[in-house]
Amino acid sequence: MKKVAFFDAKPYDREWFDKLNQKYELHYFESKLDEETAELARGCQAVCAFVNDNLDKRTIDKLYELGVRVIAMRCAGYSNVDFRAAYKKIHVVRVPAYSPHAVAEHAMGLLLMVNRKLHKAYNRTRDFNFNISGLTGVDLYGKTAGIIGTGKIGRTFMELCRGFGMKIVAYDAFPNEKLGIEYVDLDELLRRSDVISLHCPLTDQTRHMLDEAPFAKMKRGIFLINTSRGELVDSVALLKALDEGKIRGAGLDVYEEEADYFFSDWSMSGVQDDVLSLLLNKPNVVITSHQAFLTEEALSSIARITLDNLDEFFSDGPLTNEVCYQCESGKIRENCREMRGGRCF
Ligand code: NAD
Repeated sequence: MKKVAFFDAKPYDREWFDKLNQKYELHYFESKLDEETAELARGCQAVCAFVNDNLDKRTIDKLYELGVRVIAMRCAGYSNVDFRAAYKKIHVVRVPAYSPHAVAEHAMGLLLMVNRKLHKAYNRTRDFNFNISGLTGVDLYGKTAGIIGTGKIGRTFMELCRGFGMKIVAYDAFPNEKLGIEYVDLDELLRRSDVISLHCPLTDQTRHMLDEAPFAKMKRGIFLINTSRGELVDSVALLKALDEGKIRGAGLDVYEEEADYFFSDWSMSGVQDDVLSLLLNKPNVVITSHQAFLTEEALSSIARITLDNLDEFFSDGPLTNEVCYQCESGKIRENCREMRGGRCF
């Protein structure tokens, strides 16, 4: 039986992988993967990793030295993988789509929560405080949602916004004109939107795409929703925009320094990250811990597709969901010039 070292394993991962796995010896480790913990993969041919594992060059070199030949990411994003280091050594496969509904519905949940201050209301009524002063929101009906990134999740979120009677404008570096969406440039989206929701990947072009200058171009009093990647937003600039009233409310499922804290319990010690603490202390900010994907449907798809990806690798077949450094976001298969027999190398 092939052995798979499974990093950053959580009870919900084990539940679904154990239910669906028949072929592999899965070794679950609670530790995140990095250069040091890579040693745990000794004797394994594959590694299964997640969003906050550190797959930099040193980790990848170590895994290669240990005989690992495939990294199965059990997520869609891959900004934590050094693909150049992996190229021609270790194949990297991922789960490109599992449930856009899971993430889009969570994004809508965050928007409803920060707009109608449900987090405050929940705490008040639990404390027998039935006062509703200070909980005023706005109708979403008739407002304009600016969607950045019109892929699977962005389009699903757009449908939810349409259900609320919202108008839509969108920005995408690779617009899909067939969708019949009103595409505008980023500046126009910033100027027109009452709600801005991020659904594009983290790349060198998108890192801090919302920093001080774009915040200055936004309307006053907008809602910002980020379920994509924390580093898309400059958190210090976000704090300033919140202080100045430019942002009326922010719903964040991701944070740029989340790898240090998310998915673990820090309630007894607190966190050392001042920016995160300041954001958490704001009454108009709701932060969830990268849980937008967390539905039963998504977890079962993630487990099934990850196991299928491993099957393809070990049967020497084409790798449907391989990514390498030459692949471009959104056009993964077509743009990989080195693809041979369905594999990137
Ligand atoms: P997708 O590949 O279907 O869509 C991404 C879209 O972004 C594409 O239309 C692409 O053209 C566009 N894009 C690429 N570069 C851009 C740029 N520079 N500016 C604007 N748009 C750009 O991806 P998806 O499945 O819709 O996922 C979107 C993002 O959601 C992922 O990248 C991931 O970071 C995030 N995500 C988060 C969670 C979570 O639990 N919070 C779960 C899954 C995915």
